[in-house]
Amino acid sequence: MTPEERERYARHILLREVGGQGQQKLIAARVLVVGAGGLGSPILSYLAAAGVGTIGISDSDVVSLSNLQRQTLFRSEDVGREKTGAAQEAIARLNPHVNVIAHPRMTDENAAGVVADYDLIVEGVDNFAARYALNRACLSAKKPLVSAAVGRFEGQLATFKPYEKPGALPCYRCLVPEEPPRDEQVNCAEEGVLGAVTGVMGTLAAMEVLKELLGVGDSLAGRLMIYDGLGASFRTVRLNADPACADCGAHG
Ligand SMILES: [Zn+2]
Repeated sequence: MTPEERERYARHILLREVGGQGQQKLIAARVLVVGAGGLGSPILSYLAAAGVGTIGISDSDVVSLSNLQRQTLFRSEDVGREKTGAAQEAIARLNPHVNVIAHPRMTDENAAGVVADYDLIVEGVDNFAARYALNRACLSAKKPLVSAAVGRFEGQLATFKPYEKPGALPCYRCLVPEEPPRDEQVNCAEEGVLGAVTGVMGTLAAMEVLKELLGVGDSLAGRLMIYDGLGASFRTVRLNADPACADCGAHG
């Protein structure tokens, strides 16, 4: 590390659980952030500020005016620009040491190829097709997947590492076996979301990513964290593997 980096990361290096070695791990790490939206904004900000050396950003959208209420990475003048380009610039202003790579939206066709280049994948997308594609790609590549979701005043967060304890730790598909019918899906575009909820859940997702990269604390794998913003409470429930899971089950 250069003297500039030692000063930049001084508050990390002070932590016994991180130190210079942990900071080197973050600098060497490659993380794919899928979705540069309300969840992706705090995820990208905290991972870039933390010095994660290589960050991939997967998104095919452009910044719209109605994004700015929660997508804090962007500014009014970014409206109409591609999110990956605007995010790349915002990250460069925050931390020029971070190498940012842009990727299109994840599909079954491209997910495996992109996932192979990263150590860990974190997603905050608004569609099930991308989540299932990522789940399958992460399963076969044995890469951890941190998954966050929000709607209205609530959020959910989980980490999936089924390959560490097959048959015990679940994958995303164990939790959501099939895409719910359209009218039961909580959708930010139709139902709304309080912007700060995406900030809470995106920041928690960044925290779990940093823990996994550093190898510290208790992994969230096998648990689901649920945030009730109106009730001002969190609860964590056990998640078990589904032996009948189409993606990771014995007969999958
Ligand atoms: Zn599964």
